[in-house]
Amino acid sequence: MKKFSVVLLLLVSVCARANENFPEMNDKNGYVEPFQMFDDVYYVGDKWVSSYAVETNTGLVIIDTLDFPYSKWIPINLEKLGLEKKPVTHILATHGHSDHVGGAQYLQAEYGSKVVMTSKGHDLAKEQAEKSEGTNKFLPPNVDLIVKDGMTLEIGGKQFKFYITPGHTEGDFSLDFMVQDSGAIHRAFVVGGHSLSAKKPELANQFFKSMDRIREIALKPPVVTVNLANHPHKNDLFANRDKRKSGVAVNPFISKSNFFMFLEQQKSLAKEKLVK
Ligand SMILES: [Zn+2]
Repeated sequence: MKKFSVVLLLLVSVCARANENFPEMNDKNGYVEPFQMFDDVYYVGDKWVSSYAVETNTGLVIIDTLDFPYSKWIPINLEKLGLEKKPVTHILATHGHSDHVGGAQYLQAEYGSKVVMTSKGHDLAKEQAEKSEGTNKFLPPNVDLIVKDGMTLEIGGKQFKFYITPGHTEGDFSLDFMVQDSGAIHRAFVVGGHSLSAKKPELANQFFKSMDRIREIALKPPVVTVNLANHPHKNDLFANRDKRKSGVAVNPFISKSNFFMFLEQQKSLAKEKLVK
């Protein structure tokens, strides 16, 4: 009976969205079934861009919002995970590129969430929204809270620490918080922008400085062991999902080496890009 109600609910949601330029949920479009990573973290992103739902005592925090209109999959994914009754209290958009901020305004309108960005991130979001067109046309969100370097935001009993880490764009922020795995606490980190933009080589110095600073912060105890990269190919997300499905004893999303290797890789890739 319960299964039937969930299917019915999903059908109703799908039908309600059918006329609003809703992208088909298939592999070709990059659709990925949502899944749980930790007691309090879920993957609701697509094949190319990550979006995480973090559960707090007061609801959900969404980190990054995909390119519009693929952002429309996020509410469906929350329903599939049984999280549809939880209010989405906050949307944290790591930087102003459309693949991270494209759905922020849509989700903000749907849930009445507070949007958190850096001021430069918001400026870029407005520029990108202006340039967006056709089915990808999106509006910039209203920002409720501007990120300051080193600020801590308490949301529903969870402490989110923010760092401004420019380099990929001028307005990236990174995020430091604790997640739970079967009740045990682990330190997670989201690097808000992790490749050097070929269009802005002048940001290279800031990029290398940010990567070194993140490394230093992440090495302070308890050392970061959860790499919540904002693109899934950067943290072996799907391979780890499959490993987890196969029933390994330790949660594969917890890895001492994954995060620090990822930081080194981003620096090497950036150096290669500069040489080119
Ligand atoms: Zn970007």
